This record gives sequence, C-alpha cells and structure tokens, in this order.
Amino acid sequence: MKVYKFGGASVRNPEGIRNLAHIVSLCGDEQLVVVVSAMGKTTNALERVLDALMAGDVVLAQQEWDGIIAYHEDILHALELPKDVLPYRALPALADRANYDFSYDQLVSFGELTSTAIINAYLRKAGLDSCLLDMTRLLRTDATYRDANVCMAESEQRICEAVRQAGHQVCIVQGFIGGTTEGYRTTLGREGSDYTAALVGNFLDAESVTIWKDVPGILNADPRLVKDTVLIPELNYHDAVELSYSGAQIIHPKTIRPIENKHIPLYVKPFGDPTAAGSKIYADAAGPIDVPVYIWRKNQVLITIRPKDFSFVLEQSLNSFFEIIHRHRLKVSLIQSSAVTISVSVDHTRYVDAAIEELREQFRVNYNEHLSLLTIRGTTPEILHKESVGRRILLSQTTRRTARFLISE
Ligand code: ASP
Ligand code: MG
Repeated sequence: MKVYKFGGASVRNPEGIRNLAHIVSLCGDEQLVVVVSAMGKTTNALERVLDALMAGDVVLAQQEWDGIIAYHEDILHALELPKDVLPYRALPALADRANYDFSYDQLVSFGELTSTAIINAYLRKAGLDSCLLDMTRLLRTDATYRDANVCMAESEQRICEAVRQAGHQVCIVQGFIGGTTEGYRTTLGREGSDYTAALVGNFLDAESVTIWKDVPGILNADPRLVKDTVLIPELNYHDAVELSYSGAQIIHPKTIRPIENKHIPLYVKPFGDPTAAGSKIYADAAGPIDVPVYIWRKNQVLITIRPKDFSFVLEQSLNSFFEIIHRHRLKVSLIQSSAVTISVSVDHTRYVDAAIEELREQFRVNYNEHLSLLTIRGTTPEILHKESVGRRILLSQTTRRTARFLISE
C-alpha cells in the first residue's frame, strides 16, 4: 500500500489530471490511496467568496462563485465528463455569519470535495479501479475550525476500515478536510493536504508516502528567488522538520511526525517526470545536508512586549504571553528575549490584531509588519556577510551553522 498526494498545482488543468491518471497507472495492481488538494488556486478563490459573503456583498460573492464553477466545468468538459460530477453548484448560504472560522470550513471544503469527485470520475472513465471516500466522515477532528486537531485513534479505525471495505485498487480522498462528530466539516490549516497524506500513511502502515510537486524535489533554495539551486537527494526527518518549520514551502511542517513515528519514507517527486528520483526523507539518510539551504518565510510580524512596570519579563510573563499567542492561533517562527523584553516573529494572519490588543492589556507592545524571515542553514562567515549587506535587518540570530534574519520587505 502506498500513499500519493497531489497538490493544487499538479491538478490545475486537464493535462494535469491526465498526468495524474498516468502516474497512478504506473503502480500496476498495487493498492494506492491518493490524497488530493483543491485544483489550482480554488482555495484562494473560495476564501474570496467567503470574505464577500461576510462583508454582505452577495453580488461579488456570486461572481467569484460563478468563476469557480465555470473553471471546474471547463475541466469537466475537456475531460469529457458530465457536469453532474460536481458535488453541488449553487452558492450555499452562509452557515453562521458571526462565526468566520466555522463558515470557512463549511464553504472552503468545496474545493477538495470537487477536485476529488472529478479525479475519481476521470480515473474510472480511464478504466482504473478507483473509488471516492469522504474525509468529512473518516478523518474525525475536534471543532477547532480552520485549525482542527485530528482524533487519531478514531480516524485510524475509520480510515482503515473504509479502505479495506472499499476493496478498490485506488481510493481517492480529500486532503485538508475532516469532520466533527456532529458531521460539520473542518479544515486542518492552509496547505494541510500534506499532513493528511502523512496521517493516512501512518494509519495504513503505508510502504511510502509520495508528494508529487511541480519542482524536481527538495531544493536548497526557492528557484523563483535564487538561480543555481541544487537538489537535495536525501535528508533525515529532523532536517525535514527544520526546513519546513523555517518556511520551505515544499512540505507542511506537521507532515513529518506521523511518518517518522512509523519510519515511513517520504518522497518528494516531480509531477512532470514520474520516473525521476526526486528527494527522499527517511531515518537513515546519509549525513547532514552538505549545501547551504536558504528558506524564506514571508509575511511576518515582529511583536515585542515588555512589562508595564519594568519587572523582569522572563520569570513573570512568559506563561501568560505564550498563552495569549497560542490562544489566538499565532504561529511563532522565531523567539528572542532580553532582561525586560520578549520578541516573537509570527505569521501575519487575521488573528494578529486581536492578539496584540489583548497583549496590550498586560504589556507594553511594539510591533512591525511586512517582514520576511530568512533562515540559512549550513551558513559560513562569507554567506553571512553577503546576505546581510544592504538589507534592513530588524533582528538576527546565529548559532553554529544556522543564521536567521528578520528583514523589512
Ligand atoms: N487546498 C488547501 C490549500 O490550498 C489545502 C492544500 O492545498 O494543501 O491550502
Ligand atoms: Mg495547495
């Protein structure tokens, strides 16, 4: 049993879906679970529908929605599939206008429900023995909408049973989405489909998990930002976690733990060249990565707090500070402290303002927006010099082999 995951970019057009079918057919008779994201930029488009609905702009919401439906219908047409493959076509009414996170999960899950329905229909038409499973029912989560926590034992039992009972060679499942006991849809956080694939791999004791991407594998830098990138053929789980945490877009940071737990190898392979080796993440990977690795994490906010009364910050405030950060779901990318201040860099999400407001009740707070965090692993004095010249660096941290710069964009 293997698990394959295809991201939005891989299935953004009819050629991509045909290519997916080709890659699946290369597996012969082997059982396969295929985890799929929403097609192309559908998740972003659905977020725009929701924002318009929340703002009460029904006309704009309808326009965006019609665009999403037309995009999927064009794909259905090109693949010669009937329109009724779509799970539904009418813009749903907003579930609960007062509750953004809840409404988000009910609406945005449409992207994955649709992509998987189309892909399953196409595989069947192409003669593959495929079936569609619904993760709303199978991946049981709590009700933390937009960042749901998976109930492991229950999900494992449900998914194993469903795959076994289905008895098909290929099971298609939605990445990114799950459901509560009451049957409401939940999502696991943006780019969460990788995490779904890792969980499914863990539950089913898969022989491997493969993430198919539109890059040759894991590179030492983003090819859109740096020329002369090199492929990292293999790396261990620890390095993979560090890389994804620092902001390497290649895999979601939560992906590694479920596969490491069971020593399942994770491959990152190029979608356009299925026989290429790509990168392999596994326990016995040879040594540390021997090229410097550059990772950008964009859209950061630096928040610095100090107690209102100049008491020492560490002893007295650490707990309540991080409790507030955690409760507002801020993802911390860097921490630094002095005698009277704590600074953290966090992803700029819609929850930042409320967190700052609450922090202000207890602390004096300063913050800077529009920052990027550059992490360089395997750095040298020359690299450090080269990367820091001419940049407005608000904060830097260096350890033996790693440098981190928070840079004003
Ligand atoms: N479709 C979701 C997103 O774009 C999940 C994923 O792609 O992994 O964030
Ligand atoms: Mg995606």
